[in-house]
Amino acid sequence: MTKLVAQKNEVLFAPIGGCNEIGRNLSLYGHDGAWIIVDCGIGFPPASMHGGIDAILPNPEFLYDNAERIKGLIITHAHEDHLGAIAYLWGERLRCPIFATNFAARLLQKKWQRFGNAMPLNIRNIAAGQRFVLEPFSITPLAVAHSVPEATALCIETACGVLLHSGDWKLDQNPVIGEPASEKLFNLATDIARKRRQPLLAMMSDSTNVFSDSSSGDEASTQPAFEELFRKDYKRIVVTLFASNIARIVSIARAARKCGRRLVIGGNALQRMSEIAQACGYLGDLTNDFLDSRARIAAEKLVLLATGSQGEEGSLMSRLAQANSPLTKGDVAVFSSRTIPGNELPVGKVKNALVRKGVEIIDHNRMPSLHVSGHASGNEVERVYRQLHPAWLVPIHGEPRHLQENARIAQIAGLKTKIITNGHILRFTNKTAKSLTSGVVCETLDQSLPSEEQYLERSKEKSDLLAQSDTSLRERSKLAQAGACSCFVTLDHKNSKIIDTRFIVFGDNKLELILAQRGKAILLETLNALEKRRDKKGLVWQNCRQESQELTRKITQNSITDENLEKAFKKELFRSSGRSPLVKMLIKFC
Ligand SMILES: [Zn+2]
Repeated sequence: MTKLVAQKNEVLFAPIGGCNEIGRNLSLYGHDGAWIIVDCGIGFPPASMHGGIDAILPNPEFLYDNAERIKGLIITHAHEDHLGAIAYLWGERLRCPIFATNFAARLLQKKWQRFGNAMPLNIRNIAAGQRFVLEPFSITPLAVAHSVPEATALCIETACGVLLHSGDWKLDQNPVIGEPASEKLFNLATDIARKRRQPLLAMMSDSTNVFSDSSSGDEASTQPAFEELFRKDYKRIVVTLFASNIARIVSIARAARKCGRRLVIGGNALQRMSEIAQACGYLGDLTNDFLDSRARIAAEKLVLLATGSQGEEGSLMSRLAQANSPLTKGDVAVFSSRTIPGNELPVGKVKNALVRKGVEIIDHNRMPSLHVSGHASGNEVERVYRQLHPAWLVPIHGEPRHLQENARIAQIAGLKTKIITNGHILRFTNKTAKSLTSGVVCETLDQSLPSEEQYLERSKEKSDLLAQSDTSLRERSKLAQAGACSCFVTLDHKNSKIIDTRFIVFGDNKLELILAQRGKAILLETLNALEKRRDKKGLVWQNCRQESQELTRKITQNSITDENLEKAFKKELFRSSGRSPLVKMLIKFC
């Protein structure tokens, strides 16, 4: 059990997720005996991770152990990597109130209902610019530009000083939804600190896009690009995008209206998101142009919005890429998104399948103005740091290389920086309490919080969390990478001679062939090797036989598994064929 109580003269900051990785964002702030949580998101398993893992979650151990001191969870915005883990971690052991703006709150409520959770989720609506109190913290959400409506940064006031948690943000002169965001977008945090005559202790700042040196681009700049496309002579036009990018849906709908095309929203996620956007008033009269997918109208008069920009299996775009879909030569598939690192393979697979059908692909590489990033580029980050000048800059939301680059930019802007990783705890104290920056001490505590990844395995009936150390994960990974082989061996009870062998191979065609041709020989080699090594007493199979007889009595099955034989067979198989599958061996005596 990990317990930690923050003192009155300090503010603690501890990320449990998001600091060493993209996604799985969860940060804790501690002060005067209390904690608040900022965000509770999922991470997406990399393509290299196999075995039915649906998502990676933050470790909830510290939250459960300290639940009585947690005053609330504040959600910065409605992206899965900021709120997606709530449905799995909230419940009997953690039920503090959740604070979210209207759009995120509606999404969260819908998700919660969809998962069939009986306990009501305690969500309270907050709004940009409206300060609320969770003693001993006061929190003011600040509106920022991002790729989802109502994204906020959080200005967190404490008795020791003020902190700024950036959330995901960018600069945008014309964000389509929300107010323009210049480099002054966080200045309210400085104003609040000045009014309190306290320092701006630190800014915890998004690192996602710091390697980009160009501007992240205004959202409104995508509309002319879509108009250009929609005026061309394409028959069917399908556009795929991130479902939560409501401003992009608005830009596409406006462009379609200008070009005389109607819009069909396809795919469950896009339909859900556009319903919430409509309820929040972001789509206005554009919904008059939306058509049901069953509407009878010429394909040339339509734009179909589709889920599946990341090549997700079962998404509308991946179904449209299948051989039996109506898409064909003369049609175009537009990818208005970037490919998230790790998704290159599935996205490439969908694109290749579309090309084979004769469909033209237009993506960000071919037409850069079709997509703008939702995250501040390196130069935007630097401009903001020069404006704001917090006492310390702590990079968050990124892999180690992103965090390091963000810190480097901050140092160029004249800031002191601290790079930490998941589980580390930073302690801020304020010695002078007079100026905005001087006298603020930041140190890393020796103690750390549990932050190991938790793997989510979801089925229709239930969701299970697996710890990093779970042996089944290693086995699944091995199964996916090297295949698996079940060996059924029938041995003579008296002299251990092989009577029969049968090999069933999964996931490796070549291994199947090898075992069909040489499986019995490899097994004989294994037995010989075991015989030589194991027993000068000449009792190679005695243990097996005894166990077998035991089992026969216990479970009336005349068969056993033998780990030693499995290990020896694997070794022999690798020596003779170079293959190293997961091996399960079932021995039957007769
Ligand atoms: Zn985001």
